[in-house]
Amino acid sequence: MVLYLSLCLTQQPLPTDFIDGSPGGGGHVNSFTSAWKTASAIEEATGFRHVATKVLCSSLSFLNRGNSLRLLPRRLLLFGGGYEWSLFFHAWLFRRLDRYLNTRMSVYGWAFYFGRIQGPIDTETWVNVCIRCGSASPASLLIRRELVRRTLVGVHIFRCPDCGADNPFADDAWAADWLRREMMRRTSGDPTLPRN
Ligand SMILES: [Zn+2]
Repeated sequence: MVLYLSLCLTQQPLPTDFIDGSPGGGGHVNSFTSAWKTASAIEEATGFRHVATKVLCSSLSFLNRGNSLRLLPRRLLLFGGGYEWSLFFHAWLFRRLDRYLNTRMSVYGWAFYFGRIQGPIDTETWVNVCIRCGSASPASLLIRRELVRRTLVGVHIFRCPDCGADNPFADDAWAADWLRREMMRRTSGDPTLPRN
């Protein structure tokens, strides 16, 4: 039996919270302030044992004007109107802020795993998320499939294996180290298990 949930993180406000229709905008999303407390509550309510947590990153693809079926909010102009060049820039910027200033700009939630799961669970954080289709890929896979290239200005980009969009590329290894430090700082339990 497997129960899989993805929940929005509001421990720190999302950078897009002020835009109606964004994951944290408009007041339509419950505030889950602690992964550990949320997982424990679900465990208690369902009877399924919580076995792993994966931190999820955003590419702001929900702001992509090409994905919108309704009138775009005016405040989206602050994110370049939802054009891909702007989402590319913000995705690149957020990952660098996370890496060098220990912010959580790229993080939007968690995937929780409950119950009896066949095989190993990959809990590594994948920071390379497509600005168009929102699919995430591990850096090692993108490199192995030769989807990463360096531009003339020195920025590394990857071509999304699912939709072909160009995206800013970031190594996953720093995210794993950063998250481990964060978890050790925030929890008094097992520091190897990213529960909070
Ligand atoms: Zn894509």
